[in-house]
Amino acid sequence: MIKYTLGAFFTLYIALAWSNGDTQTKYKTENVIIMIMDGPRYSETWGDSTHQHIPHMANDMAEHGVVYTNFRNNGPTYTCSGHTAIATGVYQRIDNTGKKYPKNPTIFQYFLKATGKSRKAAYVIASKDKLAILTDTKKRKWREQYRPYSDCGVNGFRTGYRSDLETYKSSLEILKKDKPNLVLINFRQPDSWGHAANYERYLSSMKKTDEYIYKIFEFIRIDPYYRGKTTIFVTNDHGRHLDGHKDGFVSHGDNCEGCRKINCFAYGPDFKKGIITDEARELIDIPITTAKLLNIEFNKKAKGQLMTELFVETK
Ligand SMILES: [Zn+2]
Ligand SMILES: [Zn+2]
Repeated sequence: MIKYTLGAFFTLYIALAWSNGDTQTKYKTENVIIMIMDGPRYSETWGDSTHQHIPHMANDMAEHGVVYTNFRNNGPTYTCSGHTAIATGVYQRIDNTGKKYPKNPTIFQYFLKATGKSRKAAYVIASKDKLAILTDTKKRKWREQYRPYSDCGVNGFRTGYRSDLETYKSSLEILKKDKPNLVLINFRQPDSWGHAANYERYLSSMKKTDEYIYKIFEFIRIDPYYRGKTTIFVTNDHGRHLDGHKDGFVSHGDNCEGCRKINCFAYGPDFKKGIITDEARELIDIPITTAKLLNIEFNKKAKGQLMTELFVETK
């Protein structure tokens, strides 16, 4: 009898909750981490059926999330532009040396404004010092406000690039110590070895980056603070020229398929698992989806779309 009554109350509670007209979906995600392997071609990442240069993503990560086989940078295919697209949801031709902040406020600023959290709740971590541009905007109403913490290059703007090993170690330290909720991490080495025209190192550094990304992925899945409530995106800022086009894998920056087509993997408590999708998606969809998961307002001018296919259908 008691059991029956409790059941009835529970049913009533659910019915009332529904009739409230509250359509706000509560996601399990409380943290989002976006990791970027700078500048590998799709043909050497997921597009290579042996996945020899990204073994962890293929063998240890893919089964836990969603892999995209039709993902693109549809804006300028340079590092600062690619990262700006991920951070602002808007494609912008922006100086590639780190002299300018993006035109639009970043997702980090929207997050800090919406939550009122301390600056350390959002973090930009990068091997390339110039990516500290992602910590602010030129937009007057937002300039110098709600700025995330950053750990970029040797010691911030104009101090030079550092190794991915240092970035990896620093990322883990920051995650353990400051427990930020929204983080972007850039690993530069595949791009740097590409520009150095060293194909062997370009490939081997890809494998190394795959390992760093996997170790952070595993940390997130085990750590008591992050596990079960953290979404991870792994992508690239751009690809590189196709073989036979200009100088091939050495450079990037145009409209060729090699520069446009990139890799993307998404994992999280609200996402499906073990899926490979050919849904056409692009860089600017990542911040839109991130804002939705974190339940924060985002730039109305951002053109990206919500990556609906990722979500587990709620009954
Ligand atoms: Zn790049
Ligand atoms: Zn190209």
